[in-house]
Amino acid sequence: MKLANKVALVTGAAQGIGKGIAEVMASKGADVVVSDIKSCEQMDSLAEWVRGKGRRAMVIRADASNREQVESMFERAWTEMGAIDILVNNAGIETIVPFLEMTDEQWRDVTMVNLRSEWLCSQVFCRRAIAAKRPGVIVNIGSIQAGRVLPGRTHYAPSKLAIEALTRNMSAEVTPMGIRVNCIHPGLIETPMTDWVMKRPDLLSGVLGQISMGRPGQPCEIGTVAAFLASDEASYVTGQSFYVDGGWIGK
Ligand code: NAD
Repeated sequence: MKLANKVALVTGAAQGIGKGIAEVMASKGADVVVSDIKSCEQMDSLAEWVRGKGRRAMVIRADASNREQVESMFERAWTEMGAIDILVNNAGIETIVPFLEMTDEQWRDVTMVNLRSEWLCSQVFCRRAIAAKRPGVIVNIGSIQAGRVLPGRTHYAPSKLAIEALTRNMSAEVTPMGIRVNCIHPGLIETPMTDWVMKRPDLLSGVLGQISMGRPGQPCEIGTVAAFLASDEASYVTGQSFYVDGGWIGK
């Protein structure tokens, strides 16, 4: 139980990778705050699942890119759970729009959620942890697209590559105060976000051909790496970005 006595807050946890991370963290002993912009039964049933593992769970609906909602989320979570030890910045959105047709709104929406939310949630978390003189851990979720070109992602790909720089720079400022910061770049993971690719055998076979393992990953396979980075086993790891992609970037 490498995360025993820790409390993790996961954004975008209603489904997909965030849900997988929350499940793995709970199974390794963490109490979990499940947060998402959606108000849905999926969050309630995940919280029930976590409680079934003997861990505490809390559901908070919040837009991870909105300062007022994020401040209020941490206030509620800190009060009810005692403290937060681990922040997983997972909330993200992807749209596919050719560069020449992209609107200001489409650029803003993707960068606001993918990049600003990780900066904002981290800032609110770090301010609280440092004021309380508590150590902490942040795991940021980037993407394989930080290092690979897929069409129609001139907003998404830069937002994810920037998370690598965000990770390094935040780490440089807060690691001396006891907060480690790392990033995971997932490859193709089977979630609602990628459902449309999974249903297109013509597209899927092309992508799988670029992946050494020849298969998509599962959310729990990101969860196990996130749990490792969040644990004391990774006590000397900070400022780093890791591709967890079945051998895509390296092929
Ligand atoms: P998903 O769409 O299945 O789930 C994302 C969740 O984030 C949803 O529940 C959604 O409601 C929530 N969300 C969206 N905007 C939010 C906001 N402003 N505030 C709070 N919650 C919000 O996606 P996923 O595949 O599980 O992806 C999770 C993360 O992993 C994203 O950051 C995504 O970019 C990244 N990623 C996914 C893959 C993949 O193959 N699935 C690959 C690389 C990176």
